[in-house]
Amino acid sequence: MMRIDIITLFPEMCEAFLGSSIIGRARKDNKIEINCHQLREFSDNKWGRVDDTPYGGGMGLVIRAEPLARCCDHVISLFPKKPHIIYFSPKGRVFSQRIAGELKDTHENLLFVCGHYEGVDQRFLDKYVDEEISIGDYVLTGGEIAAVAVADAVARLCPGVLSSDECFQDESHYCGLLEYPQYSKPSVWEGMKVPDVLMSGHHERVDRWRRDQALIITKKRRPDMFSKIIPDKSDLKSVGYLWEKSEK
Ligand code: SAM
Repeated sequence: MMRIDIITLFPEMCEAFLGSSIIGRARKDNKIEINCHQLREFSDNKWGRVDDTPYGGGMGLVIRAEPLARCCDHVISLFPKKPHIIYFSPKGRVFSQRIAGELKDTHENLLFVCGHYEGVDQRFLDKYVDEEISIGDYVLTGGEIAAVAVADAVARLCPGVLSSDECFQDESHYCGLLEYPQYSKPSVWEGMKVPDVLMSGHHERVDRWRRDQALIITKKRRPDMFSKIIPDKSDLKSVGYLWEKSEK
């Protein structure tokens, strides 16, 4: 079973998210284990302070290496085998569905470290961290949003977390496509009707329509993704015009 531990100054933020909905239920049902650890408990002073001013001067505070190392050593000792340690940082490799799959396939034990303030002492990163991951080219106040985003994306790929693998296999990004449009009841809303094919009960036609819509939307919104798709015979027969030089 996948185990993810998170070191943070704000475990309650992570718990609020990862204790709810599908991931919260999967934790209760022992499909995945997630634990949050309060870094302040590893402080060496009575105020629970773990940060200090940066050498060289400048704004803000930096989380010190010593409490991080003490906390990390403790958490590592709780894992059955050494976890893959990830620090969240805007300087890291940018997270994607592919990396979520890679983390799930290559590591059973993950340890996430969330920074705050100006970040953490570089010496801690050099000694403990296996890789740095960013969730996009922008700066957040802390690593907690990144930690829950990555934990959620990895957890939903683990066996038993969703009701079946099909739940994520059709979704955007999983197989290099954006997902087709979804509709629910009523069949007519504000004068807009659900496409007839979805109410036809004809599974083959529904599958074809969904694949066509996924191809069309991917070409329109993400030409970078579309250019990597190798169409099969049925794609060419149905929406082959998408691959023509000057599309109809
Ligand atoms: N001074 C740092 C810099 O310029 O690279 C930014 C520090 S940021 C205010 C505080 C913490 O939020 C970081 O240490 C990191 O853990 C987290 N963080 C901020 N943006 C992030 C992003 N795009 N992806 C992942 N973590 C991020």
